[in-house]
Amino acid sequence: DTGNDILTRPATKAAVRDADRAHVFHSWSAQGQIEPLPVAGAEGSYFWDYDDNRYLDFSSQLVNTNIGHQHPKVVAAIQEQAGRVCTLAPGFAVDVRAEAARLVAERTPGDLDRVFFTNAGAEAVEHAVRMARVHTGRPKVMSTYRSYHGATAAAINLTGDPRRWASDTGSAGVVRFWGPHLYRSHFHAETEAQECERALAHLEETLAFEGPNTIAAIILETVPGTAGVLVPPPGYLAGVRELCDRHGIVFILDEVMAGFGRTGTWFAADLFQVTPDLMTFAKGVNSGYVPLGGVAISDAIAETFEQRPYPGGLTYSGHPLACASAVATLNVMAQEDIVGNAARIGERVLGPGLRELAERHPSVGEVRGTGVFWALDLVRDRDTREPLVPYQPSGPDNQPMADFAAACKTRGLWPFVNMNRTHVVPPCTITEAEAKEGLAALDEALAAADAHTTAGRAR
Ligand code: PMP
Repeated sequence: DTGNDILTRPATKAAVRDADRAHVFHSWSAQGQIEPLPVAGAEGSYFWDYDDNRYLDFSSQLVNTNIGHQHPKVVAAIQEQAGRVCTLAPGFAVDVRAEAARLVAERTPGDLDRVFFTNAGAEAVEHAVRMARVHTGRPKVMSTYRSYHGATAAAINLTGDPRRWASDTGSAGVVRFWGPHLYRSHFHAETEAQECERALAHLEETLAFEGPNTIAAIILETVPGTAGVLVPPPGYLAGVRELCDRHGIVFILDEVMAGFGRTGTWFAADLFQVTPDLMTFAKGVNSGYVPLGGVAISDAIAETFEQRPYPGGLTYSGHPLACASAVATLNVMAQEDIVGNAARIGERVLGPGLRELAERHPSVGEVRGTGVFWALDLVRDRDTREPLVPYQPSGPDNQPMADFAAACKTRGLWPFVNMNRTHVVPPCTITEAEAKEGLAALDEALAAADAHTTAGRAR
């Protein structure tokens, strides 16, 4: 208690729950069917409720608390900035904004040297698309079916995820195609090399039939995250880069989820040594302590807007509190080798540990990932690969995954569950002991998924 009688808040678990139920409208939910957990506090890889139940956060909230909760240096930086100046309009030159942009530009690949700040990931996608359309003078943007790009107008239409369906406006100006995903190959491929070659041929053919000079941009998540941590085969992104170059198409990589350490490299693009023309980011840039996202811009596209105005802006572009938290986060990540930790934990603990779980649990069809970015693809039958639940946002058929999630929570593990997958996406700061604690809980909870799976097929 700070003794601050201005910051009033409900004080008990019941009061928090009641006020929440009465007045908060929650994302992506049937409001009457959810029971949000009242959370009392958080630190590092854990958060806890009002009954002293502590949860190991294998979801990093929404895959954003890359440095864990309440890092003291970042909290202090936000407090210090609040004491100095809380808000300034985007038209001013501000020390922390300039420094945050410099640090982002320094980390992003190639010549992505300018940064347009937004409040979050979806806005970053909106603006990247706007920049590409103005830069090329072309109308259409291409995206993949297995994707999530945000919930604002352009971003949700570019999204493939079924959460788009309810509000799909016909997706004017969007052309969707299939990206590579060997386990559920659209191309009947049997090897990564085939999948890569056929996915590139499919994109090239789609481009030819759409008219390449009508396409402003191709947007891809470097590693599609929400769709199931779909690490692309070697050569795929370089192939898309080449197609974009050949046709004057802007290549946008969406690193909102994959960026800032999650893959065990600063950006997923570093794994594949590709440089896009625009890169969207958010989440990990400041571990989500204050809303922040942005677009990193190549020199060529920045040049377009040197003498002609960029037709877009935001009241809070480069908000000082958010930028101060980003500066502190990026410095802490470098000082504490947090990206290296993500790589080591992935290689030594999570990768081997998850593969070992797949050996023993018949519900695990495939383990995919790198760094602290993994997914278990859960199936009814390993031979047919039929997903444990159908391809739909929610509904009674999703009960097996709800059972699995409940089994995790009972064991003090907070999972990230999306359709037939559980993603293993802890903070990049997770320790070896914490990772092992989470794997042990997953091991027990997977029995709830195995119960819905054809018995006796464990490999
Ligand atoms: N792009 C990607 C790849 C994402 O994963 C997300 C969020 N999960 C978004 C965009 C949208 O970000 P936000 O929710 O911050 O608007």
